[in-house]
Amino acid sequence: MTQQEQTILQQLPSLLLSWYDQQARILPWREQPTPYRVWISEIMLQQTRVEAVKPYFERFVTTLPTIADLANVDDQLLLKLWEGLGYYNRARNLKRAAKFVVKEYGGELPADYQALLMLPGIGAYTAGAIASIAFHIRRPAVDGNVLRVISRILAKKDDITLPKVKENVEEMITKILPEQRVGDFNQSLMELGATVCLPNGEPLCQTCPVQAICQGYQQGIAPELPIKTKKADRKIQDKTILLLLCNGKVAIRQRENKGLLAGLWEFPSIDEKRNKTQLERELIQQGYLVSSIHPVGKSKHIFSHIEWRMNGYLVHLNYPVPEFTWVTEEELQEQYPLPTAFKFYQQALEEDIQTSLFQ
Ligand code: SF4
Repeated sequence: MTQQEQTILQQLPSLLLSWYDQQARILPWREQPTPYRVWISEIMLQQTRVEAVKPYFERFVTTLPTIADLANVDDQLLLKLWEGLGYYNRARNLKRAAKFVVKEYGGELPADYQALLMLPGIGAYTAGAIASIAFHIRRPAVDGNVLRVISRILAKKDDITLPKVKENVEEMITKILPEQRVGDFNQSLMELGATVCLPNGEPLCQTCPVQAICQGYQQGIAPELPIKTKKADRKIQDKTILLLLCNGKVAIRQRENKGLLAGLWEFPSIDEKRNKTQLERELIQQGYLVSSIHPVGKSKHIFSHIEWRMNGYLVHLNYPVPEFTWVTEEELQEQYPLPTAFKFYQQALEEDIQTSLFQ
């Protein structure tokens, strides 16, 4: 860090903390920032918007109020509580970490950055956030928001996707962390990134509390920052989704225990495109006793590295196929959480029931 950069950054804590005291959003996990609540909120907020997280957070901590409750939760209930948030490994890691915390720390998160970092699903950012917000330990919490804010304030053109650049920003923040209110300071930086110094070239500089020291603003280059190398294009995967119906039940199956959506329930599918005639022929060849097929439409779901382009069919069968699990619509709702990727087809199924095609 150059002398000039240090001089600029040293002004951040006082500017940001007074702004944060006036402008911080009221969020449920900020009301009682216990280590458990901070942890759950930080994990939920990874890859998910604040507004989307709020109802999930309330439901989760009400159903599982302690780390011991989380450690002992039934997997299906856990996935039900997480259903719709996506990235289900987060939920699995929470439970694994909770079990470890019960065994090793008597059910309380350790007030130690390195110990937090050892827990499943907790990386440097989350450990820093829990340590600083819940335990007032002087550690930075640098996520994408913070990298963007710092790049703009210092008019830095380094590629923020590089680990070295992130480490550098962590070092810079560590040097300016205030003695008091370190958790609030970390949150104020994140808050600035989330509400003012917005991504995608849209910083709201006119209302920004650090405009006077912001080099990116003064040089007129803030909207072009930060510099990020483009991620490799997502792989496109075509899928034909089968809503197989027989005797008032629908067929589901459980995915493998590794890879995408590991261990979750899903509708059966074929990993290729099929039109109605091709599908009918293929199912009959495989011995399915098909009574009717109706197309139910297309849907798309984007994961981080893959995009599913789906086309679905409602297929009425005269006999169930034993290789699948057959459930009623009610059981599907209550006991077999389906990933968000299948929401469109789950709704199509519900509509079909309402229009009495489900026989
Ligand atoms: Fe971001 Fe603009 Fe504030 Fe600089 S002045 S930190 S670019 S919002």
